[in-house]
Formats: sequence, C-alpha cells, structure tokens
Amino acid sequence: MIGVEAARRAILAGVAPLPAEEVPLLDALGLVLADTIIATADIPPFRNSAMDGYAVRAADLDHATRATPTRLHVIAEGPAGYAPRGTVTSGTAIRIMTGAPLPPGADTVVRFEETDEPTRDAAHEPAHDSEESRVAIFVAQGPAINVREAGEDLRAGNIALVAGTALRPAELGVLASLGYGRVRVHRRPQVAIVSTGDEVVPPGQPLAPGQIRDSNSTTLAALVRRYGGVPRLLGVARDTVAELTATLAAARDADLILTSGGVSLGDYDMVKDVLRAEGRIDIWQVRMKPGKPLAYGQLGGKPFLGLPGNPVAAYVSFELFARPIILRQLGHAALDKPTIRARLTERVRNGGGRQHYVRALVTAGPDGPIVRPTGEQGSGVLTALTRANGLLVIPEGVEALAADALVEVEMLHWEQGGGQFPSADQER
Ligand code: AMP
Ligand code: MG
Repeated sequence: MIGVEAARRAILAGVAPLPAEEVPLLDALGLVLADTIIATADIPPFRNSAMDGYAVRAADLDHATRATPTRLHVIAEGPAGYAPRGTVTSGTAIRIMTGAPLPPGADTVVRFEETDEPTRDAAHEPAHDSEESRVAIFVAQGPAINVREAGEDLRAGNIALVAGTALRPAELGVLASLGYGRVRVHRRPQVAIVSTGDEVVPPGQPLAPGQIRDSNSTTLAALVRRYGGVPRLLGVARDTVAELTATLAAARDADLILTSGGVSLGDYDMVKDVLRAEGRIDIWQVRMKPGKPLAYGQLGGKPFLGLPGNPVAAYVSFELFARPIILRQLGHAALDKPTIRARLTERVRNGGGRQHYVRALVTAGPDGPIVRPTGEQGSGVLTALTRANGLLVIPEGVEALAADALVEVEMLHWEQGGGQFPSADQER
C-alpha cells in the first residue's frame, strides 16, 4: 500500500499531454494552447480616440477656460470604422467618435462634456460640415489625452500568449483581436467508463431483488466532462473475467480507461485479474479513506484506473487520481485541486490513520472561511457529497483535528461558499 502523494506521482509519471488539433476559437474554451502566439499586428492597429468629442491640436487650447472658451471651426465628422476625413490644422477641429482613427494634425481629444456641445440646441445649429460650424472648448489640455496609441494593448512581434496557457474568455478575446478564427489546442481525452457488478443495473431498468442502480457511470461521466474530457459510457460488465474483458475491448482506443467496483478482495473482484492478464498493474491499494482499493496500470498502452465501487469512494478517488490525469492530457500545468484554509467548527476524528477526505461544507464566517463536516461519512452515502463543497483533509497518521483549528480543504466547487470564495471558473 502506498500513500496518496506517492500514488499520484507514480500515476502522473506515465501520462503526457495529448497531441494538438485545430478547433474553432469558441470550441477552445477551457482547453490549453499548443503554440506560443506572437502578435502579427499592433492592437489596436491605429491611434484612435478613447472618447466621443473633438480631435484638436493641444497647442490651440492654451488659454481655454469655461469663461473664455477657445472657438474652433469644425471641418469634418470622424465616425468609427472609416479613414479620417480631413486634416486638423490650427484653429480647426474634427468631431470624433470613440474608436475612430485620430485624424492627421490632431494630437488630443476633448470630450463633449468639456465643450458647448451638450448645451447647444441641435435644431438651430448649422450642420457640422458647413463653414459656419463652430465648437467652444472649455479646457486647456495637453497632447495624447483621450487617445489610445497603436499597439498600446499588444505590439506586433511581441508574445501575446504562451504555449500551455489555459484558454478562458479573455484569452479567446485576445486571439480574436489578432484575427484568429481557429486555434491549435491539445485535444480532449476520450475517457471510457465501465461499471462492474452483477448487482448493478443501468438507470431506467427495473430492479430485481438484490440489485441496485448504476450511479457511478453517471457521476464519473459528469466529472470527466466537468474537467474537459469526453466520457464514453460502455455500460455495466458482470463480474466475470470473460464479460469484463469483452467490455473493455471497446475501450482500447480511449485515452483513459475508468472502471468502478470489482477492485477489492472479494470473490468476484475481477478488475485486477483482467488487468494483470491483458495489461499491466502498477498500483493496487492506497492509504486513504474513503477508497483504499484502487488499481492503476495500463491496458493496451493506455492509462487504466480501477476505481472503488462505493459511490463516494469512486468520486473522491476520481478527484485525486483521474482528474490530474485528464488535466495533464489536456496540457494543463496546474494539476492540484484548489485549496482553502478554513476554521474547523468541531473536532473531527480520523479512525484508522489513513489519509482521510472528510466531506465538508465551507462557508463564510465572521473572521474568514469556516468548515463543517456534512454528517454521515459512509463511503456509500452519496447525498453527503451533495451537501459538501470541499474535502477536509486529515493527513495520514493524524489522529484528530481539534475544533477551531485552521485546516486545509480541497475545494470540489465554490458555489456554496456564500459568495465569499473564488468564482466558479476556478473550479478546476
Ligand atoms: P465493489 O467494490 O464492487 O465490491 O463495490 C462496493 C460497493 O459499491 C457495493 O456495495 C456495490 O454494490 C457498490 N457499487 C459498485 N458499483 C456501483 C455503481 N456503478 N453504482 C452504484 N454503486 C455501486
Ligand atoms: Mg462489485
């Protein structure tokens, strides 16, 4: 039997990022960039106005005040989306909109609020392109005010995003601004999921005496999808070597194979036998609770994780071992679960001395996060997980954690934290 950290290291040593493929930009959300992206152009591509106002020469405004405004001829309009329509010379201005290129000759933009534009009666004003059009400017201001420089966001030739970056909405926006419609990312792993057990029946079928419904397939598939993999449900295999072998044959082209159940010491626990016969077994049993039984190895050269059958144990083992495999295959560098330090509301004991993952709820307390166990900790009690948002870790060999102790919680998700915790996009 080995400890959790040693098991994780051994498992991850044999896992590498999957090859890259090109996908439409939006489909790359949450995936990891395969190439470093160099900006091929300045962003923004041209010097432009940051405000609606008047493009002028700062030198013309030297003495402008509200009491003694500077009056300028308005020679043109400058809407966004067009090349400048005129050159600003001393004594003139171009009425300009946010995002429009700064016209030649102009070096600063005066906002409408600093001119008589808001107080003018439009119906009685001559059109701006007429000789008569004038604007009164109420402020003196220097050059480059309300002006966005070309390349102020990104300069051509500079690195925009490095390979290995996880693509969130902002990164996708950067790629779009550079003109990318598609992007190369590490492809998603196909994850085969097999439930085992003569007693286990797929949802939707009637239960005979002694049978239970297959919840693990659904829970594990949802976890696979949450972390970016593509679940492939292969159904339930009965507890015979022949049937498990046959079912697993359909998993040979997957990038990761997950089974649940049949991995302990019982008479019908066939997973190890099949793995030993058809592939390779590297790890069996980890010093943790819930979920001591765990088989890791390879089948057809693909990583194989035999998870325990108890629903909570299967879930926790997935978080600890399958999640980092999927993230590594996706090309992510950060594989650890996000953790939070929280004040424990009550004493929690660790019977048995294995590393204990206690289902717990973190909420906002008066002096920072507090954490309380969610009650019944049996490894079959899946509803305890529905009330939890984290796993409180009692390290191996630690007898108990005292009430009021500051403890480490691996967050499963952040939604139930009363809004005080990092947002849901940190769920990974
Ligand atoms: P096993 O490791 O196969 O002995 O299973 C341990 C416990 O988990 C047993 O009570 C099983 O009935 C239960 N179990 C196994 N597989 C599933 C599953 N797919 N869904 C729900 N419970 C399961
Ligand atoms: Mg079983």
